Amino acid sequence: MKTITMKRIVIFLLVTSISFSLQAQERRIINLPDIPGYQTLLCDFHMHTVFSDGYVWPTVRVDEAWEEGIDAIAITDHLEYLPHKNDISADHNRAWEIAQNYAKNKDVIVIAGTEITKGMPPGHFNALFIKDANTILHDDYKSAIGEAVGQGAFIIWNHPGWKRQQPDTMLWWDEHNLLLKEGWLHGIEVANGHEYYPEAINWARDKDLTFMANSDIHQPIHMAFDVVESHRPGTLVFVTERSEGGIREALFNGRTIAYYKNLLMGKEEILRAFLLESLFIKESPESNIFTFLNPTDIILKLKLDNKIYQDWSRSIHIDPGKEVLFKLPADSNKDEIMLSIENFLIGAEESLSIPLSSIRTIHQ
Ligand SMILES: [Zn+2]
Ligand SMILES: [Zn+2]
Repeated sequence: MKTITMKRIVIFLLVTSISFSLQAQERRIINLPDIPGYQTLLCDFHMHTVFSDGYVWPTVRVDEAWEEGIDAIAITDHLEYLPHKNDISADHNRAWEIAQNYAKNKDVIVIAGTEITKGMPPGHFNALFIKDANTILHDDYKSAIGEAVGQGAFIIWNHPGWKRQQPDTMLWWDEHNLLLKEGWLHGIEVANGHEYYPEAINWARDKDLTFMANSDIHQPIHMAFDVVESHRPGTLVFVTERSEGGIREALFNGRTIAYYKNLLMGKEEILRAFLLESLFIKESPESNIFTFLNPTDIILKLKLDNKIYQDWSRSIHIDPGKEVLFKLPADSNKDEIMLSIENFLIGAEESLSIPLSSIRTIHQ
C-alpha cells in the first residue's frame, strides 16, 4: 500500500517536472534591422522530414525554427525520392499539413512546399505556396513545374552548383532559359546547406531572380549547424505584412537577402538599405575620429577605400553589438572616402560600396 502511494507521488512529480521543462522552452531573439517601409523576416524555405529523406517528424522543424527565432519555414519534401515509404506511407501534402497544424500555437509561419527532384538538366526545384503536391508529381519537369505554377507557386532552382549534378563547372542550361522565358523560374539558391555558389549571385543579379539561402536540412538542425553561436543559412525577406501573403508578395518582388555564414548576398539597393540600418557613426568632437556602431547580430567587415590614402586602408571587423574606434589621417576628406562592406556581396566578386558620408551619425 505504502509503495503504491510512493509510486504515485514519484509519477506525479515526474509529470509535473516534464510539464515545467516544456514551458521553459527558450527562443533566441535575433537582431536584424527592418528597412524603411518593410519589416525583416528570417526564413528558411528548404527542409526535409521523414516524409521524404529527412530524419525528423514535421513538428520538430517548427520547434527548431521557433527556438532559433526564425519567422517562417517551408516544408519541402521530395516528390520523387521517398526512402522511408515502406514505413511512412502518406500523400505528399501530409508533412506540411502536420507542421501547419502544430504551428498554430507557435509563432512560426509554415509554408506548403515540395521539392521537384529531377536529374541535371534542369535539377531540383522547390515550389512554395502550393495547394496540392500530389498533382505536381510528373515524370517530365515541364509538366511538374507547369502544374506548380498553375497553383500559384513560387519556383526556386535549388543548389545550382551541387557537385553531384554539376561536377566540372557550374552551367546554366537551355532548360533554365526555357523556364525563365515561360516565367516559371522566380528564385535561385545562392547558398544551400554548407555550400555557396558565387556564380549564382551573378545569375540572380543578371536574370532578376530572387536571392535565396536555405538550410536543406535533413537531420536534426543542431547536427548540421551551430545555431547557438552562429546561424543556419536563411533568407531575409522584407515584407509589408508578417503573413504568408506578405512573404509571397515580397518573394515575387525580389525583396530578399541571402544570409549564409555571415555573408549577405542580394540586390544592391536592398543591401544598401539594410546596411544603412545596420551601421552607424557616433558623433565625435574631432572630425577625423570615428566610432562605428553595429547594433545587429551580423559581423560587419568594412574597408575604407581612398585612392589617395591607399597605404592606411585596412579591414575593420565590427562584431555584433560592438563599437570600433577608427582614426583617419588628419588631412583626409570624409566626403571622398568610399566604404566597402566586404561581406555584403552584389556580384560573385563584388562587394557593396557606399560613400562614408552616407552612414548616419548618432548624436549624443
Ligand atoms: Zn535537392
Ligand atoms: Zn532538398
